[in-house]
Amino acid sequence: MYRITPQLNEKIRHFAQFPQTGVSLRQMVLFGQNPSPGTLLRASQFLAEELPIRLAHRVKELDELPHNLNNMPSIVKVKNWYAQSFEDLINFPKADLPRSIKDKFAASALKETKLPESRPNLSVKYSSSSPPKHQAVPLDHRYYSNIDGIDWPPEVYHYNEKFTKLIEAIKRRHDPVVTTVGIMEYKQHRKLIDTDVQAFLDRFYMSRIGIRMLIGQQVALNRLASRPDYVGIICTKTNIAETVQEAADNAKYICEDYYGLFRAPEVQLHCPQDLIFTYVPSHLSHMLFELLKNSLRAVVETFGDGKDEYPPIKVIVAEGKEDITIKISDEGGGIPRSSIPLVWTYMYTTAQAQELDPNFNQSDFKAPLAGFGYGLPISRLYARYFGGDLKLISMEGFGTDVYLHLNRISNSDEPLQ
Ligand code: ADP
Ligand code: MG
Repeated sequence: MYRITPQLNEKIRHFAQFPQTGVSLRQMVLFGQNPSPGTLLRASQFLAEELPIRLAHRVKELDELPHNLNNMPSIVKVKNWYAQSFEDLINFPKADLPRSIKDKFAASALKETKLPESRPNLSVKYSSSSPPKHQAVPLDHRYYSNIDGIDWPPEVYHYNEKFTKLIEAIKRRHDPVVTTVGIMEYKQHRKLIDTDVQAFLDRFYMSRIGIRMLIGQQVALNRLASRPDYVGIICTKTNIAETVQEAADNAKYICEDYYGLFRAPEVQLHCPQDLIFTYVPSHLSHMLFELLKNSLRAVVETFGDGKDEYPPIKVIVAEGKEDITIKISDEGGGIPRSSIPLVWTYMYTTAQAQELDPNFNQSDFKAPLAGFGYGLPISRLYARYFGGDLKLISMEGFGTDVYLHLNRISNSDEPLQ
């Protein structure tokens, strides 16, 4: 079994003193548009510095969880994954570039590329009382443009290849985090649900979304031959109507299967067919799927599962200058006002609680129809991750309106505390 040595722990503490550097959707798009081996190398180097900082913050927070939660076996297990990934990253050899490459970097536009210089340097000790001043320089397209035409040598390709393999393995290691994070044990401690733990889980899962986004993007840029309209896993022409339709079809299928229905409630879509924007389609699908499952379930449970017809769920999409807003309205009876704060917690469900099996490698948060209780809070994190939000308004006795706000400008940095 993996153990965190005191030496490793000291390094983790050290890295956890540094602030995390957020990157915006816009920066990711600009950066990844025409990647060359050299730009990919720079991005790898950025991640090689940024990921250990983010992981170290999580280890520290897991260690400091209240109510003895930090000692629960599942939390210790998850903490060890974070520590192990941290260790893999800091032991990853720095790019060993021949002189000629360094000169090429110097000669190209890349010479302006400044990776944060005051990033943790293990040979430098900082006193823990005063965290070092840290001038973070996030990825910026100005530094990466105009570098084509350089004949990058094998060392650069090797570095990119090895680093990509490492972060892919790390991403895989962390696949079962959500199902393991002690929600099982935690459920037995329901009375302990407090705002500290809620805030911790919000930060923890938000950080996870960010780490997986950065890794997913880097892996896609290295691995996938460029697809039209895609920059890594970001689609610059994400079509809303198509994405809603697909999520609705999937959710209806699950609903019909779950209740043994001949036909699930209808989902009516009011959206310009050609409305497109820059987003990560998998994030958008995830949120829509979760919201539509909730509405379908509410409608079927309100009217009973033997009906030929149900009031339709209406999806209305509005296009503003700042936001694209997707409203999902159902007539599923709404939610009592006193339960509204609870729906944003990671345990609250009115469905039969689902068994969380950490051995079942669940890489995303998809639940069959309902019962994990984290559909809404995780969807809100996805929305907020790129500067949007998720709001819910209920009319008890009638139905629920959910507003999914998606930021069009997308130049807000990742929300990292
Ligand atoms: P789950 O669906 O696994 O229960 P969610 O976080 O998606 O978890 O939702 C939590 C709870 O909020 C649901 O169990 C349900 O009681 C309530 N809820 C969510 N959406 C709706 C809705 N559209 N209408 C009525 N109740 C809802
Ligand atoms: Mg749900």
